[in-house]
Formats: sequence, structure tokens, C-alpha cells
Amino acid sequence: MKHIVYMDHNATAPLRAEAREAIMATLDLGGNPSSVHSAGRKARRVVEDARELVRAAVHAPKTAQVIFTSGGTEANTLALNGVTRALTSSAEHASILKARDDMETVPVDGNGKIDLGHLQDSLSNGDGNAVVSVMMANNETGVLQNINDIAHLAHRYGALLHVDAVQALGKVHVDFVALGVDMMSLSAHKVGGPTGAGALVASKDVKLVANNPGGGQEGGLRGGTENVSGLAGFGVAAGMAVAELAEMDAVKILRDQLEQRVLEIAPNAMIFGKNVDRLPNTSFIALPGVLAESQIMAMDLAGICVSAGSACSSGKSLASATLAAMGVPETLAKSAIRVSLGHSNVNDDIESFLSVWKDLYERNEAKQSAA
Ligand code: PLP
Repeated sequence: MKHIVYMDHNATAPLRAEAREAIMATLDLGGNPSSVHSAGRKARRVVEDARELVRAAVHAPKTAQVIFTSGGTEANTLALNGVTRALTSSAEHASILKARDDMETVPVDGNGKIDLGHLQDSLSNGDGNAVVSVMMANNETGVLQNINDIAHLAHRYGALLHVDAVQALGKVHVDFVALGVDMMSLSAHKVGGPTGAGALVASKDVKLVANNPGGGQEGGLRGGTENVSGLAGFGVAAGMAVAELAEMDAVKILRDQLEQRVLEIAPNAMIFGKNVDRLPNTSFIALPGVLAESQIMAMDLAGICVSAGSACSSGKSLASATLAAMGVPETLAKSAIRVSLGHSNVNDDIESFLSVWKDLYERNEAKQSAA
């Protein structure tokens, strides 16, 4: 079987063996967590243990609400439901930008950081009954927002702060209390858990409004029988991702090597957000003149998995919305691919990537000089 070099951890991280074990061990439990008999109570125990693991992973207090959802998208829509006004940055994930028809967007700078002056102006034109929603780390560039500053600003104007920490968890330290946030979205499959599980963590005083109250599960905030085994996998994966955070130092060394070599090969290559605080595993690189689709296909033929930005824009030959918000010209944005590493990547993976990338660069240079 062909060896696969997986460099698309921001899309989905490989399932951790321990998460798989937790899933398998609970699949046959059979009981419904809402049933009062012993089988039901066993299933309930699994869900509540997972809740405590997720709570601990983001250092949320015992009093915080942890509502399980089907993933980051649903957590984001729950956070923004029922509020009078929602403000966000123009470089957010589609699950936030499309969460409401009346979403107000605040521009970002050339690195994708939210314009705090603009946010302040927008907040000062309201009565405080608002939620500001900002992602902690961008899924495409990995650029980190200054969450503390945004929290202070939102709170000064009486607004709540929701943070989409889907990409941050397991890659940088995430502390619900220290960040000063009111709500936080998480997703299992970004930390080595299964797809289809996530959570919204919210301070105890935040009044959430269900999108789907159903049978009253999750404190009436998310109807539907809980995904018991999926949540078991989520809890274990979240705990491990945080316990193994130090491994990100080695991942960062690999990422930095890759970027350095890319720029040695092609001095005209662009690495977005390179000079600001970023996730240690992410690199969003444009190779001018070579469409992202062609790069991805060449990589795929060599057994290397990378993507053109978010899963939503890849495969549809759309330029990245994040780069558009950052003011990057469309032609350049269409030549950008995202490399997102994980703890299983090794030096040889970087070499495999660079050999394909160098070939793409040289073929393009030859084409240009023949033209
Ligand atoms: N938020 C961000 C920043 C993401 O990167 C993603 C997934 O790509 C989501 C939310 C959505 O998460 P899920 O796939 O669990 O719905």
C-alpha cells in the first residue's frame, strides 16, 4: 500500500488510538443516557465523564455549562442563537459567517487580525446586548487573535465574547478563564477524536437559546439522544491533546524548516501571517502562477495530503475567503495551499513535500521563460 504523508490536520486530525479504544469500549453499552435503569446510568456516566474531560481540557470552571453538540459548526450556531446582535471578523469560518443573516462583520488587517478600532466603533453604536464572536486561531493561516484584548473591549461595552477555539485546542494553550471569554466552541475531530462531536462551553450566567430543544437533552439546549461513544472518544482525545501539547514544539521546528526551505527554493513564495503569532503547525503558502488545485493534485499523486485552505473552499476552486478578507489579490489567493502538520509528521514528510513543491516551482519557471 502506498505510504500516505498526511499534512491536513486542520481539516481533520487522525483518530487517536486511545480515542478509538474509548469509542469501541462504549459502542456496545446499549443504554440511553436519559433512561434511569442501570444500562441508562452506565451510558450517562460515559457522557458525564467525557464532559469533565472536555471541561478540564480548556480549564473551564466546575460551574461552566458544557453542552455537547454534533461539532464545531453546531456549537457556533448555538452560541449565536437568540442574541439581539452578533458581530464577528470578516476572516471567520463559514459556520460563523453564515450562522445568522444579520451578522455584522468587522474588517481584519493584512494578517487577518480583527480591527479593534472598528470593533470598538461598532460596539459603541449599540445597547450592549450583543455577542462578539472571534476565532482564537484561523483555520487557514493559523493566525492567533489577541483574545484578551477583544474580551476587554467586548465587556467594556456590555457584550459577551464567544471564541471559536476549534483550531486552537491541542495546538496552543487554551484557558477559558484566563482568556476572559464567555463562550467557547470545540470540535472532537480536530484533536484526534471522532467526527460528529463537539461542545459549546459557556459561563454559568450565559443564557443560551436552543436551536433544537427536542427532548430536553443537554439541559434543554440540544435535543437528541447523545452520541455516547463519540463523546467518549472526544473526552479522551481532548484530554490527550492537552497533555501532549509540548509535542507541538517539535511540530513547530518541522513547520519552520519547511517554510525556510520553501523560501529558499522560491523567493517569490508567500507565507501568510508568517510574522505574527500563529499556530505552530500551520503554513498557508502561495506559489504564484501555479493554481492550488494543480499543487494539490501533484501532491496527491505523490501520496501527500494537503488542502487549499478550509475544507469548505477546497475542491470547489474558490479562492480562500480568509485571504480575500486580508486583502490578498484573488490570483495570488488561488495559488495558496495549506499545510497543517501533526505529531506524527517526520523530517522525511517535509522532504517528500519539498521535492514535489520544487518540481512544481521549476516547471512553472520553465513555462514562464518559454512564454
Ligand atoms: N470552526 C473552525 C475554526 C473550523 O476550522 C471548523 C472546521 O473546519 C469548524 C469551526 C467546524 O467544525 P466541525 O467540522 O466540527 O463542524
